[in-house]
Order: sequence, then structure tokens, then C-alpha cells
Amino acid sequence: MIYLDYSATTPVSYDVLESYIRATKDFPGNPNSLHSLGVKSKALMNSAIKQIAEIFNVLESEITFTSGATEANNFALIGTCLANLKLGNHLIVSKLEHPSIYKICDYLETIGFEISYVDNNEDGLIDFEELKRKMRNDTILVSICAVNSETGVRQPLKMIRQVIRKENSRTYFHSDMTQALGKVPVNLHDVDLASASAHKIFGPKGIGFFYKSSHVPFKPIIYGSGKVNLFNPGTPPLPLIVAFAKAIRLATIDLEKRENFVRRLNDRIVQDLKKYDGVLINQSKICIPHILNISLLEIKAETFLHALEEYEIYVSTNTACSSGELSTSVMALYGDKKRASSTLRISLSYLTTTDEINKFLMYFKIVYEKLSLLKREET
Ligand code: PMP
Repeated sequence: MIYLDYSATTPVSYDVLESYIRATKDFPGNPNSLHSLGVKSKALMNSAIKQIAEIFNVLESEITFTSGATEANNFALIGTCLANLKLGNHLIVSKLEHPSIYKICDYLETIGFEISYVDNNEDGLIDFEELKRKMRNDTILVSICAVNSETGVRQPLKMIRQVIRKENSRTYFHSDMTQALGKVPVNLHDVDLASASAHKIFGPKGIGFFYKSSHVPFKPIIYGSGKVNLFNPGTPPLPLIVAFAKAIRLATIDLEKRENFVRRLNDRIVQDLKKYDGVLINQSKICIPHILNISLLEIKAETFLHALEEYEIYVSTNTACSSGELSTSVMALYGDKKRASSTLRISLSYLTTTDEINKFLMYFKIVYEKLSLLKREET
């Protein structure tokens, strides 16, 4: 099997799984319980939070665990908007967000918020001038993805925040960091709110975090009992939290070395795929190397994906969360419907090997020639 869909999800690393199993076996108590089993579990939970807070240099009380990044995005946008109605009802998001952000925006519109969408240039970089123009006195929140999940476009969050602050110092800044964490350095101090997910960094599915800087007024969107997991009451999933802390620790080491390695793999694929007339590489100088998006001009991406699957090679059409639809991100980059209508995402990790890439390229050629021939015979 050649797995090239690491941006959809990653396999759980063995060390992470071990932490999960140990926490499950040895810490059966509910961290909300007052007896000694509960106290023991709460201590373990606190040490996991402490580890995460130390890695990101934030306060422990600024981290809330969620079921993943979708839930964290809901917390960030809805909770911040509801708490800051006094400041206004306007939000700005980019055209390179994950579908979950757009769905939340659609909901916020139904309860009276107004959403503006900021453009990007042909590299995918946020158009700073347009962002300035769209900023208003009543802009509560700007949400801009750190790394776009379909194309790998990475935004300079620190600079974006400076622009926001200059235009309106009361506006908060959220970034969905799901595709950045574990691939490139992330700094939570560049933003006021952030979202992340464990299953993108060799952690388990079903756990993510929501970061909220202590100065941001926030209205909870989930109500219940149990206070150990700040804005997400109920019984916290201790083994998932412990495993997530481990996954973060393992994913944030050797980043530069791993990125350089992945860049060499990416370059190798690009050099090879460039020679196909019917393939366009959707990549700019601000893309991270872990995500490589291509357009197939003559072949349906879904057909191609399944043909590769016959050789046990796994890639995505746009993203796992919006498969089968026009790629909004490729559309935002090139404004070309044909280019955006048949896209494949090849996503790599530091575990990908040169041998896997060589095999992938070999089977890509076989599949491309076979499907091109079929297409010619059809027409
Ligand atoms: N945001 C981004 C940028 C993503 O790539 C994803 C996963 N495709 C999500 C949010 C949703 O994450 P989760 O599956 O953890 O809800």
C-alpha cells in the first residue's frame, strides 16, 4: 500500500497508541470525580494540558479539548461572536478556508451576523489591501486558515494580525491551524484563537483543541456539568487527551529536517508530473510541501483516484470533507472552473519514502495512459 492522503488523516503512531492504552488501563476514574481514582485521573489530565501549554507557551486555562477541529472551529467562531455582540456583528474569512468554516458562517448569517470574504493573490496570499478595505468598526473576528487543506497555501499569520490590529484593535483573530500543526512551526501568540486536530498529526481520531487567549471574551456554546475541560463540559476523554499530548510532542520535533525531506519528495513528483500535457500543478511559492494539488484536464479526478486505488495507492480528490465538489481553493487561486473541477490532492508526510514516490509515479503513468486512451476511444 502507498498512502498519500496524510492530510485527510494519519495513522496513529505506536508510541501514541501506547499512551492511549496505558491511560485507559491505569486511569479508569472520571477526572471530575472527587475520590482518589478521579483525583488520579485529573492529575494525569492536568499534566497532559501542562505539556501542551508548555509546548505552545500558553496558559493551561487557554486550552479546551474538543472532538476535533470542526468542533474547535465552531467554538472559536460562534462562541466569540456571541460574546462580542457589543462590538458588532461583522466577520471576515478568507476564500481558502476549510468547508467547516463556511458552514459555520452560513449558520452565523442566519442569526444576524454579516460575513465578508477576503480575496487572495495568485499565489494564495491574502490580499492585504482588500483585508484593510473590508475591516470595519464593527468587525468582531477575522478567521484565516494557517495552511489551506487542499493546496497547502500557508499564510503569514503574524503579518495578517498586524494588518488587522492596525485597522481595528478590537477585532479578534482566529486561525484554523489543523493542517499546519506538525508540518511547519505554529505560534499561538500570532493569533487570539486557534483550532487543531490530533488525527492529522499521528494522534487518535476524536480529539482536538480550541485555543483561546485569556483576553478574548467568550460565550460557551455547550452547557453541562464538570469543569475540568474548560468550555467543553462533561466527562473528558482522558486517554484521547493523553494521546493527543504525546502526538503533539512527537509532531513538533525535527520540523525543519522533516520539512526539507518532504520538500525533496514534492519536488520529485512535480518534476515528473510536469511532463504530462493534461496535468496542471496547482502550487505556489507559499505552499508547504506536504500537500500537492494537481488538476487533471481530460480525466475525472474521481476515476483517476479509483484507478490508482486498484494498485493500492491512496490519494484524495480536493479534500476528504468535500470530495466530489468543485475545488473552492483551486478556484480561489486560479479562478478557472475547468482547472477546479478535477483536482487530486497528493499529501505526504515525513514517513513517506522515496521508494513510495517512485512507485506512485510509475503507477501514475500507467493509469494516466490507460485512462487517456479510454477517453480518446470514447470521443
Ligand atoms: N480544518 C482543516 C484545515 C482541516 O483540514 C480539517 C480536516 N479535513 C478540519 C478542519 C476538520 O477536522 P476534524 O476532522 O478534526 O473535525
